[in-house]
Amino acid sequence: MKQNKKLGQCFLKDKNIVKKAVDAANVNKNDIVLEIGLGKGILTKELAKNAKKVYVIELDKRLEPFAEEVIAEHPNVDVIWNDALKVNLNELNFNKIVANLPYQISSPITFKFLKTDFEVAVLMYQYEFAKRMVAKEGTKEYGRLSVSVQYNANVEFICKVPPSAFSPKPKVDSAIVRITKKEPNELFHLEDEEFFEKVVRALFQHKNKTAKKALINSSHEIGLNRDELKDILNNLSEFDLNERVFKLNIKKIVELSNLIYKLTHKK
Ligand code: SAM
Repeated sequence: MKQNKKLGQCFLKDKNIVKKAVDAANVNKNDIVLEIGLGKGILTKELAKNAKKVYVIELDKRLEPFAEEVIAEHPNVDVIWNDALKVNLNELNFNKIVANLPYQISSPITFKFLKTDFEVAVLMYQYEFAKRMVAKEGTKEYGRLSVSVQYNANVEFICKVPPSAFSPKPKVDSAIVRITKKEPNELFHLEDEEFFEKVVRALFQHKNKTAKKALINSSHEIGLNRDELKDILNNLSEFDLNERVFKLNIKKIVELSNLIYKLTHKK
């Protein structure tokens, strides 16, 4: 079978990396695990050995012989033949996610995961993407992805993975990341989640500018006209709008979004 690059088919061959991913999620016999991308089943088998049940979503039907082999050995595996972006994940009753992701869907699948109710996710990404996910304010990798993921989850960098761990070898390095949903007492209070997402988008379109300039330049993103927004910002004395966007931590961005929301959505 010729592996399909468009489907991100770089299969893991390094068993130590497989073990590292499963250990990082602390998979045990109480867990129902979701995996994206069966490949030849190297990760699925290790998950099945340790978990109560494994759901694996795979798009490429040519991999059916590998699915049969995995299920014969591990009847607690259920393969769902579909595009992971189209499956209603809330219908699957999993508590952990472990996957060597097809990198072309990294971003949409991560945001889809974040809307589900999981405890922990251990995921393999392209190294550069992983660095953006875990980045803190003040660094060059800090951006919209970092804020959107970290505002409701804690993200840890587990390890860098070289191309030699895969077959065929990808052209770039990879990395394993662990995402843990924040506890209720760690969560920020958001006046409006959709509005917050718009503010984050507007700010990070100009991450090296001051918060004030960035927002005014992207006022359309938050559905306000330039002059209206200028007036609002001129009256926000409680917030330092001269700070550059990439230096604003998540708490400050939440605060800013809430302040603007309250001023523009007065009843
Ligand atoms: N888990 C295997 C491993 O570690 O060797 C395979 C990982 S490989 C990076 C990604 C897998 O995801 C491939 O088997 C590919 O066919 C599958 N895939 C790609 N796009 C997909 C999608 N949208 N939905 C479900 N599976 C997909």
